[in-house]
Amino acid sequence: MQLSTVETISVVHEIRCDRCGKDTERGEPGFAQMTSIALDAGLGSIFGDGNRVEVDLCEPCLRDTLGAWLRVKTPADTPLATMLAAFKPELHGGEFPAHGSTNIE
Ligand SMILES: [Zn+2]
Repeated sequence: MQLSTVETISVVHEIRCDRCGKDTERGEPGFAQMTSIALDAGLGSIFGDGNRVEVDLCEPCLRDTLGAWLRVKTPADTPLATMLAAFKPELHGGEFPAHGSTNIE
């Protein structure tokens, strides 16, 4: 038996880019394009042992600050898409190919 109750949860309703100050609210077109990076610094970190590091960036600021190092891949470049593309039922007899293998008979 499951008993239900109604609880109040906290949700992000607005994100402001820390670099340019652009605001976007939930439901607006740019909301899903905001990037939030958050991490807990480890021991010996340049950010201080155990400190929390956070930043929110809009797409243009993400590109302008980290663009040289971002790896942008299309959905067709994902490992699963690559493996599915390598799957040939006539060759693999209904078995999914092992990682890195494209010619299992
Ligand atoms: Zn920005």
